[in-house]
Amino acid sequence: MKSPEEYLESLRRLKRTAFILGERIDSPHEHPLVAPSTLAMAETYAMAREADHAELFTARSHLSGEPINRFTHIMQDRQDLVYKVEMLRALGRRTATCFQRCAGLDALNTMFSVTYELARSRGTAYHKRFLAFLAGVQERDEVVAACMTDAKGDRRRRPSEQADPDVYLRVVERRADGVLVSGAKLHITGALNSHHLLVLPTRRLRSSEQDWAISFAIPADTKGVTFILGRQPADTRRLERGGGDTGNRYGGHEAAVLFDRVFVAHEQIFMNGETAFMDPIIRYFGALHRTSYGGCKPGMGDALIGASSRLARANGTREVAHIREKLAEMVQANEVLYACGLAASHKGFQTPAGCACADVLLANVCKLNVTRNPYQIARLATDIAGGLLATLPAAADFANEQTGPALRRFLAAAEGIETEERRRLLRFVESTVAGTGGVCYLMESVHGAGSPQAQIMQIQDDETFAKLEGAAQRLLEDR
Ligand code: SF4
Ligand code: FE
Repeated sequence: MKSPEEYLESLRRLKRTAFILGERIDSPHEHPLVAPSTLAMAETYAMAREADHAELFTARSHLSGEPINRFTHIMQDRQDLVYKVEMLRALGRRTATCFQRCAGLDALNTMFSVTYELARSRGTAYHKRFLAFLAGVQERDEVVAACMTDAKGDRRRRPSEQADPDVYLRVVERRADGVLVSGAKLHITGALNSHHLLVLPTRRLRSSEQDWAISFAIPADTKGVTFILGRQPADTRRLERGGGDTGNRYGGHEAAVLFDRVFVAHEQIFMNGETAFMDPIIRYFGALHRTSYGGCKPGMGDALIGASSRLARANGTREVAHIREKLAEMVQANEVLYACGLAASHKGFQTPAGCACADVLLANVCKLNVTRNPYQIARLATDIAGGLLATLPAAADFANEQTGPALRRFLAAAEGIETEERRRLLRFVESTVAGTGGVCYLMESVHGAGSPQAQIMQIQDDETFAKLEGAAQRLLEDR
């Protein structure tokens, strides 16, 4: 397993085409707008080496029998699913941000199962190819970015009906040794911190839409791939002198990943035209990834609730009855997310490939709660922090010798807590509810792993209601 330093070194070797704020950047993961997210990703390596986290962060490869980072592991049983949720909560608590490595983990598990099912029904080589890719990722302890969401164009039209057929990534040319693909994958978490891009189609397809049914993995610096970093609120604070006034040295990032006639060799392809296999991709990935949010988001919530509690002490309001009640309400809203993540894991099932997958209904309920509860927690954190949350002067004003002493004097509150600690707590809460952290904690909670409607559609599944109606029916008959 790589050390954090070895991980950073391995990223330096990638020669990617990346743009940040309109400029071409050679070593994007070292750019001040991306570096905080690289630091968060590096914690996935650091924690695997800490003795008290080894059980959660490492696993034994079912391929090689060697110890590996759990972020490259194929879930063998329900216990593995539970460990994943626990691991993500520990990382969320430590970094208070998106540490970006889980979508890749969930996509690896998805494609492990789907290529197996493909091989079983079609006798194809996909599963063997996938296992070769997976073995390399495990052995070198690498990061895989899941590239799923397409640009989608006009939402009323199917991929084959779009004016620009590339708005869903597709095969544009077939050659003897592989294919050329064009398109764009949007909102790709940790794209600039990843070694590989694992591409999956994003939606169900008709049998006539084979060109869009393409899944493959390529190195992040493959020719024809371009990354464009997505913005975050207050992101340019990271460019300020002294490392920025963002309240959290960790961060997350998403990027648009463009594919312009990218060559993909046959041995890198895990699905090529089998439109019928979109169902298991959507089912497994949705269940696995929506359960992951029951780990990372309550972990972030832990840090935010902890900061709110400490800030209430700094303000001198900690023991006021309504503040105590609000803190308790925050804990309740936060633990509901964790409870759902654990429940979906405990009720998981085995796929035909022998990989454990979270319960589909509970995973969707988990993620739907994630689209709501962090907003409730963020509102309470804003309430508890007080108005200074919105008006706190810059760190540079505290450092300035003309204004610093006055700020420390007038922003002092409860005895026993330094104004500097109060300042940092306020900045952290501000960042999480409205700054750079707001993407991970709020917007991403709504749209990550599919927007709320995607969860509602799966909850609306006829099977769910057939069971419920059956229960009601039996009661009626008993009379
Ligand atoms: Fe992982 Fe959560 Fe970030 Fe998704 S949002 S990559 S589950 S930390
Ligand atoms: Fe996400």
